[in-house]
Amino acid sequence: MNWTPPSWTARPCAVAGIRHTRNPISLARTVMEHSPHVMLIGEPAEAFGREQGIECVDPGYFFNEQRWRALEKFLQARNLPIPPRPSHHPVAADAKAVLAYEEGAQGTIGAVACDVHGNVAAATSTGGMTGKRWGRVGDSPIIGAGTYASNASCAVSGTGTGEYFIRLGVARQICALVELKRLSLQAAVDRVVQQELRALGGTDTGGVIAVAPDGTLAWGFNTEGMYRARIAANMPLSVGLYGDDP
Ligand code: ASP
Repeated sequence: MNWTPPSWTARPCAVAGIRHTRNPISLARTVMEHSPHVMLIGEPAEAFGREQGIECVDPGYFFNEQRWRALEKFLQARNLPIPPRPSHHPVAADAKAVLAYEEGAQGTIGAVACDVHGNVAAATSTGGMTGKRWGRVGDSPIIGAGTYASNASCAVSGTGTGEYFIRLGVARQICALVELKRLSLQAAVDRVVQQELRALGGTDTGGVIAVAPDGTLAWGFNTEGMYRARIAANMPLSVGLYGDDP
């Protein structure tokens, strides 16, 4: 078979079940750079981070009025008990303005990038799904599901209902379609997001952003919208939310 292995630089890393680390992606990177492992979870991961000088904060640092309201709504709708509001976060006077728009259950931040040498990278950070069960791990830290990067194909970061992304191995699947089936980046994204994810979970499962080693950018989502932006040396910044935005 006529296949030469790519110059293999992939160095995946991840952390999960993090409550104090201010910047979880920095912690994941530290796992990659200063341990022989790919993934650490929970308190031991944070203890490792502290040893390595990674900044920790009180969990209250992550409090967010919209997220709190979304959780209350989620629990109310299921007749589940609502925990007391953290006392150090009284309702702000401008809470109505803050809540002027309704947020969905998701709020992942992802980034993909490509340098002048054709090295691609992906990073994904999330608080997970509103109302998730304690101990649940979503797709974002699962290498190949919510995040994957290979110079042989592309870098992908996803957002959406993580369970579907894990079942399908979304990020790796897109890379495989580009590398092995020679699909264009956009065609691979469209096939996985619009066909394969929908086939598994109906509509509204999520979306991805992706970049190839030649700088080609692509994104796709089967939800109403996905906050996104792109910028390149030869391309001005463009920002979008709905499907017909640039
Ligand atoms: N994918 C994330 C998760 O399932 C949620 C999100 O994208 O907002 O944990």
